[in-house]
Amino acid sequence: MRSVRSAKNGATRSVLVAGGAGFLGSNLCERLVAEGMHVYCMDNMLTGRPSNLSGLSREPRFTLIEQDVCDPVPARLAVDRVMNLACAASPPRYQADPVHTMMTSVLGTRNLLDHAKRHGARFLQASTSEIYGDPEEHPQREDYWGNVNPIGPRACYDEGKRAAETLCYDYRRTEGTDVRVARIFNTYGPRMRADDGRIVSNLICQALAGEPLTIYGDGEQTRSFCYVDDMIAGFLALMEAPQAPDGPVNLGNPHEFSILQLAEQVLDLVPTRSRLVFEPLPQDDPKRRRPDISRAERLIGWRPRVPLAEGLPPTIRWFASAEGRAGDVATPETTQRTRAAAGVSPTL
Ligand code: NAD
Ligand code: UDP
Repeated sequence: MRSVRSAKNGATRSVLVAGGAGFLGSNLCERLVAEGMHVYCMDNMLTGRPSNLSGLSREPRFTLIEQDVCDPVPARLAVDRVMNLACAASPPRYQADPVHTMMTSVLGTRNLLDHAKRHGARFLQASTSEIYGDPEEHPQREDYWGNVNPIGPRACYDEGKRAAETLCYDYRRTEGTDVRVARIFNTYGPRMRADDGRIVSNLICQALAGEPLTIYGDGEQTRSFCYVDDMIAGFLALMEAPQAPDGPVNLGNPHEFSILQLAEQVLDLVPTRSRLVFEPLPQDDPKRRRPDISRAERLIGWRPRVPLAEGLPPTIRWFASAEGRAGDVATPETTQRTRAAAGVSPTL
């Protein structure tokens, strides 16, 4: 991979990772620090966890800024890269406060784009396969405009992310901002929350607890699951490509599984007495999802390497560990401890 470490003048690169305390964000922060970058992580701890960042707490090149991206970014925070991962990604989580979800994607992305413009920084947006809604084309290519219900319960997320993409390309056209948009397909792995509500975490945690595995609908709906390490490699490949692609790039694993097939794989790997239980399908639940990744292969030289059968065991080990089981919702005390340990600057 190209070096991400040095700016043109040989100085250490600085990157602002919004949403850096979450599942993908914390894995990304660790990788960026390991690559030699100075990382500023901005997070309001809505679904992120201080404990996700504990491995970075003594790292001098890591700073946690506890802030909502809906508030303006401190202007003097000089960075060469902005990576916007801020937004709850689990349907029950993003639907719990839909107006805030929408504002996170719209106002938050605008604040972060303004910051990238101010510092001449590259900008990467964590967009989503939800852009395609319940797709009428399969697999999904980036030139498909999607089939989204604009007023349904998923709209706060889907339409918020669509508006964020619009903002990115408006900044590119009007301000010349270097924007890169990753359309992420379902990604799983260590640091997902046990109480997250998404399919991989639910099935594994239910199997480990010997509880029924909840299948919504008939379980014939499909998703394509990408392992976290592959996704982080995709973010870096997209961010560091010398030329910004002229539009969004799908990042995901093109191997498609029905939810029933996923449940079978989990049952094969976890010794359990759990059985399947069928529950109603949520409104607007997409029936099929598989990325066409030919643009990613051609433009940034990326393709995923970890098949589901290899990614599930470390994910199961994570949920079986004390850390993975903990539903440690941020409290004022844990937050205070993490702020101190991570050296949150009171001047930022
Ligand atoms: P996550 O919920 O674990 O992480 C989101 C992070 O953003 C959390 O740390 C949360 O506290 C923070 N956050 C939320 N709203 C914020 C706000 N207003 N201000 C500051 N911080 C805020 O989810 P994830 O799976 O790590 O997803 C990361 C990003 O990738 C999200 O933008 C999501 O939409 C996108 N994405 C993820 C997937 C996936 O399968 N994991 C798929 C498509 C897109
Ligand atoms: N799902 C399920 N049981 C669960 C959680 C989810 O059958 O306990 C289904 C859900 O209805 C959807 C698929 O699994 O069809 C993926 O759901 P998830 O929330 O992980 O992601 P998204 O729908 O956003 O792709």
